Amino acid sequence: MGNESMRIGVLGAGYVGLVSGACLAEVGHRVVCADPDERKIASLLRGEMPIYEAGLEELVRSNVERGRLSFTTEAKDAVEASELLFVAVGTPALDNGDVDMSQVRSALVGIAEAARESKIVVMKSTVPVGTGTMAETLLRSRARPGVSFEVVSNPEFLREGTAVHDTFHMDRIVVGATSDAAAERVLAALAPFGAPALKTNRESAELIKYASNSFLATKISFINEMANVCEKVGADIGMVAKGMGMDKRIGPSFLNAGIGYGGFCLPKDTRAQLFIAENVDYDFKIMRAVIEVNQLQRQRFVRKVRAAFDGDLAGKTLAVMGLSFKPNTDDLRDAPSLDIISMLLQYGAKVRAYDPVSAPKAAALLPGVPIFDDPYEALQGSDAMLVVTEWDQVRTIDLDRAKLALRLPIVFDGRNVFDADTMRERGFRYIAVGKP
Ligand code: NAD
Repeated sequence: MGNESMRIGVLGAGYVGLVSGACLAEVGHRVVCADPDERKIASLLRGEMPIYEAGLEELVRSNVERGRLSFTTEAKDAVEASELLFVAVGTPALDNGDVDMSQVRSALVGIAEAARESKIVVMKSTVPVGTGTMAETLLRSRARPGVSFEVVSNPEFLREGTAVHDTFHMDRIVVGATSDAAAERVLAALAPFGAPALKTNRESAELIKYASNSFLATKISFINEMANVCEKVGADIGMVAKGMGMDKRIGPSFLNAGIGYGGFCLPKDTRAQLFIAENVDYDFKIMRAVIEVNQLQRQRFVRKVRAAFDGDLAGKTLAVMGLSFKPNTDDLRDAPSLDIISMLLQYGAKVRAYDPVSAPKAAALLPGVPIFDDPYEALQGSDAMLVVTEWDQVRTIDLDRAKLALRLPIVFDGRNVFDADTMRERGFRYIAVGKP
């Protein structure tokens, strides 16, 4: 039996909406992506990607050519054309850690006002527990006569940098709904991706997303604290993590010690998880520690740099290698690099930065900091090299050329990308995370 082609609207053409929309078109659905951001839609209509994501441009182009994928600034175009409406708008953190739901609300209002027939609304955005019920109430209260809505929670697990690949190789599909028919319809739309499905209630589906990200963040903060202990007892965190990861119950992933996590998801989702617990009078102690450790890890890195220069960074030039919050993306949201650069500047250092992809976006966030897309230019005349994002271009840098470009052969490796013995043999003073 072939897969059924459905009419799907996607609200939000960001990292999640654009990738999901293109992938849903690729498996045969007819997809309309709506986003009020006129510049984003204009660039998509010109065939230019507003974000950097491997494989995305080809996928978008071929599906636009086949007539299966289109873009609009008008939510009503997506709503009228579609049976299923995926909400993939942003849910950033408010200052108090709660989730800013304004984009979700505006998307829902747009759906309710435009819908002339019944729809299934699929919540892909990461939203607090209870949002599905809130959304259904809001939609139904504004519905035209005879129009009904079902809201299905379908959290998204793709990772920036490998988002297209992740969508075609997803580990699981989670759907949470009150209506089994609606849940089955969403599962039918996602069936071509071939992932095992978990059908549950909406609250559980909503919480699975936060629980997953909170657990991943916990693994990272755990290994970072372990690395800090390693430094004091002469152990090597690389070996400790390897030994731990060989245990199938633990597994090797997310055990890379470094300067901690960043990005749009883990920082805000861990804070939201804490907030969700506080709202029901539960003190989620581990979550609080995970967040604090992550922040301290950035500070520890800067402390190491200062210590190597006898506490005085004034006038020193430091080459920060990598700005995006992780490799293979141009996303700078809550990137550790921004925090670290801001601390270095406060201590009077001068910063030269390198990033292969995010240099144009970074320029607006780092006024006065020269940003290069050639690593050796950033290193030229610098007093030390700081590895902040583990881009392949940084991992595979020509160490002899780097040494020639640097004024002093000092490397602070915030991502443990180099081998300590090799670095010393090559004449570098090498300071990593969790290494003796
Ligand atoms: P994003 O900021 O890149 O994209 C959100 C888009 O929604 C923006 O383009 C914005 O203009 C648009 N938008 C705002 N209001 C709208 C409306 N009323 N109608 C239509 N579009 C509207 O965000 P993102 O990174 O794609 O994340 C989206 C959601 O997915 C968030 O809840 C996030 O937590 C979750 N998520 C993100 C990732 C990730 O790696 N980025 C992974 C899993 C889940």
